[in-house]
Amino acid sequence: MKAIWRPSPNHSPRTQAIKYIVLHGTWMSCAQSALDRLCDPAAEVSCHYLIDEKGALYQLVKDSEAAWHAGISAWKDDVSLNQSSLGIELAHSGDVTVPYTEAQYETLIELLGVLLTAHRIAPTHVLAHSDIAPDRKNDPGPQFDWNKLYSAKVAQPLSLQPRLSYEDLKHLGYVGSKQVVEKAYKLRLGVASL
Ligand SMILES: [Zn+2]
Repeated sequence: MKAIWRPSPNHSPRTQAIKYIVLHGTWMSCAQSALDRLCDPAAEVSCHYLIDEKGALYQLVKDSEAAWHAGISAWKDDVSLNQSSLGIELAHSGDVTVPYTEAQYETLIELLGVLLTAHRIAPTHVLAHSDIAPDRKNDPGPQFDWNKLYSAKVAQPLSLQPRLSYEDLKHLGYVGSKQVVEKAYKLRLGVASL
């Protein structure tokens, strides 16, 4: 799959096998300003891939390196997921009333298909940034349509039950207080559940 190479210096040597894929929304006015920030050494953030509003795919960091996209994070017994994950940013302003574009879903689904196979990642390990950092992050947001990924079999619902107890959510993998974990799970369920 063709990606535009836009190298970012913001990465470290990878010390763990790739186990997760983390999806993000850039929450910036346009893809170009997000790319500038993700490649700025002073910002100390990056990702492996960015998909702009028109579906164009950029690669910023090689899969073999740990990009700085997850920050302080946890899922099940794993912490600081930069080391064990790939990060994909979707260009988006952050306005919950604005959907991601069809072109973005098309590119994302193709990319996830390639990455899941290449790195033997389980579809249950495709997560939102809000899943792994529920106290700090809300991206890719309730406007992200997970059902498109589920239908394409490149992600899986965390559970088939819409209403789960805090204990159930912790068992799925969430780490955090009851309030933030319940909020993060609602984001996975979409705008209708807010
Ligand atoms: Zn994020």
